[in-house]
Amino acid sequence: MSFLEYAPAPESQAILNLRSEYGLFIDGEFREGHGTPFASISPATEKHIATISTADAADVDAAVAAARRAYDRTWSRMSGADRGKYLFRIARLVQERSRELAVAESLDNGKPIKESRDVDVPLVAAWFFYYAGWADKLDHAGLGANPASLGVAAQVIPWNFPLLMLAWKIAPALAAGNTVVLKPAETTSLTALLFAEIVQQADLPPGVVNIITGAGATGVALVGHDDVNAVAFTGSTPVGRAIAKSVAGTNKKVTLELGGKAANIVFDDAPIDQAIEGIVNGIFFNQGHVCCAGSRLLVQESIHGEVVDRLKARLSTLRLGDPLDKNTDIGAINSSAQLDRIRALSDIGEAEGAERWTAECTIPENGFWFAPTIFTNVSTSHRIAQEEVFGPVLSVLTFRTPAEAIAKANNTPFGLSAGIWSDKGSRILAVADKLRAGVIWANTFNRFDPASPFGGYKESGYGREGGRHGIASYLTSGTPARPAVAAAVTKPKTVTKGATK
Ligand code: NAD
Repeated sequence: MSFLEYAPAPESQAILNLRSEYGLFIDGEFREGHGTPFASISPATEKHIATISTADAADVDAAVAAARRAYDRTWSRMSGADRGKYLFRIARLVQERSRELAVAESLDNGKPIKESRDVDVPLVAAWFFYYAGWADKLDHAGLGANPASLGVAAQVIPWNFPLLMLAWKIAPALAAGNTVVLKPAETTSLTALLFAEIVQQADLPPGVVNIITGAGATGVALVGHDDVNAVAFTGSTPVGRAIAKSVAGTNKKVTLELGGKAANIVFDDAPIDQAIEGIVNGIFFNQGHVCCAGSRLLVQESIHGEVVDRLKARLSTLRLGDPLDKNTDIGAINSSAQLDRIRALSDIGEAEGAERWTAECTIPENGFWFAPTIFTNVSTSHRIAQEEVFGPVLSVLTFRTPAEAIAKANNTPFGLSAGIWSDKGSRILAVADKLRAGVIWANTFNRFDPASPFGGYKESGYGREGGRHGIASYLTSGTPARPAVAAAVTKPKTVTKGATK
């Protein structure tokens, strides 16, 4: 196959005005943390970007206290219409600084600039616009006449969509009248700290939004803090499980958005051209660092050969390299730890008998990279069919009947998302009805909209983000729940998996 040559088209970094050191954002201002600072590096070059503060327990205390003061004195007393004005202001500032945010995100996370520019940052603005519109309509949210905010929300997010996950957390919490303390992931703190500058620019009352940085220990201190009323976590299932244990027996309202192992089901009557693009987008978007990634392709046996051949041809045209190059399709893996995990699980896939195919591409000398990879001959018992690889690795399985497709699709501990490709609307509806997944796409994949609730079944967590459901997670009917740890609560809370749907 011959390819068109593309001249590099790197996005300039001149728009960035980064500091060499970043402190914690508490009570409206930046201050140094008391923990050991750490470096944020570019995963594409391994070059140092900035030194970031670590929040220790005393810093977490200060951040929660600032959020509590802001809640009591200003934010919970403000009208919904006024809160909405602040959120609209944030949304507009995100749009104004969108190019800078996209460059910072690609630099720090390793994702291609065309994704941060065209997907992440526009969705961040959309999330704030959407929830700004809810702020003065809470009485009409279907939660009774006087739904009340919860108080202080502790929010912990992962590294795969740093700014977008921040928006998913902060926008509905503030719209509902809560104040927040948010901790970004340790490998991607940069855009959360730029967001803190936007909070200052928007003139939000001090303490309404606090951003504290650090690793797991900071997260533990935050979600375990006695004076937080809500815990919203997005990340891995093992950490989600630990958080569920730590909040059991408290009054904290919890949402857990965890891992996934989505089935992307392609029937033999599917529009194949679109399906190939959808499969590629489903698993190779954001290097496969996507909780709802279509990491298991279930293809009807009669078209298996054709689909796999066409996928290989398509993958051979993807360009891997500099995340800041506008031509780049596959950027860098976010960290060396994640690269090790992808490599280990891929080796296990081969050892268990699956057939490995990797697209030919030049791997840059520095940084963390993994070429797009497909495994065929995969069976449902293989670890690459059960565990989240969280990288650009697709496992291909086959099926003969819709019933077999459904049984295989549901055969994982997760239940976050799924895709169905077919010409027949009736088949799509019938299959979707039987899939245990919170989000199901039909003849498309990885589409996100702030009006649409998102969340999982089983080990993918509980609670929903987005839409009316997303704001309901930050509201209660009646008076705010204070104190968070009620002395009267003696029994551990029963956590029912998938109870939200
Ligand atoms: P992770 O669970 O390792 O870390 C997530 C965040 O939790 C980080 O900020 C981390 O510092 C913090 N943390 C770590 N240990 C903690 C603890 N004991 N208590 C409190 N906080 C702690 O996950 P990750 O590797 O950053 O992210 C990848 C995972 O996130 C994948 O499993 C992916 O599927 C999931 N994810 C889910 C969704 C969703 O909406 N369901 C969206 C994006 C990512």
